[in-house]
Amino acid sequence: MRLSHRLDKLFPYLFVEINRKIAEKRAKGDDIVSFAIGDPDIPTPRHIIDRLCQAACDPADHRYPETAGLPELRQAIAQWYQRRFGVALDPTKEVLPLIGSKEGIGHIAFCFIDPGDIALVPDPGYPVYSMSTILAGGEPYFMPLIEENDFLPDLEAIPERISEKAKLLWLNYPNNPTGAVAGLDFFQKAVHFAKKHNLAICHDAPYTEVAFNGYRPPSFMQVPEAREFGIEFHSLSKTFHMTGWRIGMAVGNAQMIDALFRFKSNLDSGIPQAIQRAAIEALNGSPDCVAEHNTVYQRRRDKLAKALNDIGLRARLPKASFYIWARIPEGYTSVEFTTELLNKTNVAVTPGVGYGSAGEGYIRLSLTLPDYRLEEGIRRLLDWHKARGE
Ligand SMILES: *Cc1c(COP(=O)(O)O)cnc(C)c1O
Repeated sequence: MRLSHRLDKLFPYLFVEINRKIAEKRAKGDDIVSFAIGDPDIPTPRHIIDRLCQAACDPADHRYPETAGLPELRQAIAQWYQRRFGVALDPTKEVLPLIGSKEGIGHIAFCFIDPGDIALVPDPGYPVYSMSTILAGGEPYFMPLIEENDFLPDLEAIPERISEKAKLLWLNYPNNPTGAVAGLDFFQKAVHFAKKHNLAICHDAPYTEVAFNGYRPPSFMQVPEAREFGIEFHSLSKTFHMTGWRIGMAVGNAQMIDALFRFKSNLDSGIPQAIQRAAIEALNGSPDCVAEHNTVYQRRRDKLAKALNDIGLRARLPKASFYIWARIPEGYTSVEFTTELLNKTNVAVTPGVGYGSAGEGYIRLSLTLPDYRLEEGIRRLLDWHKARGE
């Protein structure tokens, strides 16, 4: 058989190699404390699961769902945006439920990118932005996110010939992996840039609800002209600890929403309806569970950031997201440092370079592990540091 050339472009994911090493050690009986994966350890709140179980028993929810999602779900998404961000959305034209936001993030590339086209992609960044661009036959142009610029891309530094040719601009705040946040002033700048260069913006925003010390991250949609130039991806995964149920959404520009709908309706048949009903429950229900989760993450963040600084890594306290992006000491690459930690302490973290070359010099630690495991990890890091110092 002859596989497509497209598949040759899928270079092996660095994380696959690291996961292999972790699995190997675990098979030998090593107890690995993993800060490597951004997947909430706390279960989906009870009231959401109760609704899911109830819907699962209803034969009406056993049949093919509509690709466009239940009207009640689109309505619930629009109402949630209104309550949370003060943004009014037309649930029929400006809202599209997704099988997890990753599904839409991957598919939107095919609505914009023809062979040879360019998408502007943050580096470091969630790998799907660049991989979907490549799969669609296009080329990612990487915008470095550096600490001196608070991990915001310098749009003015993009060469004119690139910005003229680019069709999509990818942004992601609160940011994975850096934990950085963006204000409305930055989103406003991005809209001006999109207008000037006739490109569309995709803002990936799954972490707006994971935030600390009372900070409330804004939505890109709060910029008055945003819906003329872009869409925002959001998700129930991180907000309601629903990663395993696969449900998210795209909102904003009606033409982009329609394009995404037309593309995906040829590939999938929507989100299982019981999961849509659980999502409605989550969106319409009390936001108390979100606040409870944030209290837990904030406590973990404070403990871990302190420990990292104590052992000579430079870690800022993120205002949002459940990641700590820590600067590693000179003399190591991020892969060397990650390997050393794993071999000497059985603590797993992710090397910054796995998110792009501008991530070199950093590691990412996720706060999604139980407190007692987090404390065990911290203990090992402190012991390792002490032993090295002597
Ligand atoms: C977790 C994550 C997603 C994917 O979320 P799903 O809705 O579960 O597909 C998208 N973007 C970023 C940056 C993420 O960290």
